[in-house]
Amino acid sequence: MSKLIAGNWKMSCFGADAIDLAEGIRDAVAANDEILDGADLLVCPPYLYIGIVQTVLGPESGVFVGGQDCALSENGAHTGDISAEMLVDAGCNYVILGHSERRQNHKESDALIAKKTARAYAEGLNVILCVGETEAQRDAGKAEEVVGAQIDAADFDGADYDKITIAYEPVWAIGTGKTASPDDVKAMHGFIRGKLQEKLAYGAEIRILYGGSVKPDNAESLLSLPNVGGALIGGASLNAESFMAIAKAAHKIEEQEYAAE
Ligand code: PEP
Repeated sequence: MSKLIAGNWKMSCFGADAIDLAEGIRDAVAANDEILDGADLLVCPPYLYIGIVQTVLGPESGVFVGGQDCALSENGAHTGDISAEMLVDAGCNYVILGHSERRQNHKESDALIAKKTARAYAEGLNVILCVGETEAQRDAGKAEEVVGAQIDAADFDGADYDKITIAYEPVWAIGTGKTASPDDVKAMHGFIRGKLQEKLAYGAEIRILYGGSVKPDNAESLLSLPNVGGALIGGASLNAESFMAIAKAAHKIEEQEYAAE
């Protein structure tokens, strides 16, 4: 499967910025559409701007649009929430769930994330499930234990290899400029792959993204590691040029792998 290059715009833009960014990505993809052969591109704007981003990045752009979260419930009396079915209605294909900022800032538990995951599958959304340890947990030698428990608590009931993506995001690497070392990424992605294969017949095919300060200058080395099926990108996805530079790195690796087969 192609690598997934996913931009998480968080709460980091206004409407005019979202339009500029979407136009920059649309135009860069149109000028280099071979990139889409080796990379699936996804942007996840704030809810409020999904509609305007969709007017720029319609299906013909080849760039997917997703949500950064969704509600636990179906449409109804839930003030302030946005449902999975609303995301689908707005043209989204993906939803990020369990991002560490939601786990920390909104006290989202594994159980709650599993329920949201079930809602997203029910509406046909592709789920990007974020897992990752804090710095204290890594220092205590508990990184695999923590990530393993997050995967054990995940809901795979309505999933398939192309409906669930795992994003390994060490919490201490998000927005800090620190990245996990290639050896640590290799080890953790191998561990996650092993767990997925233990649990699921299609565990070998699930994409496992790396997230945490991915930038154009480290993208190629991270994306070429075994079991790294793409990247979830915060800061560097807020600039069309740097997002596209990461997408180009993914395309280059896919081309090299294809040539070597
Ligand atoms: C993220 O928000 O998921 C993320 C990885 O952010 P950054 O790339 O800025 O570290």
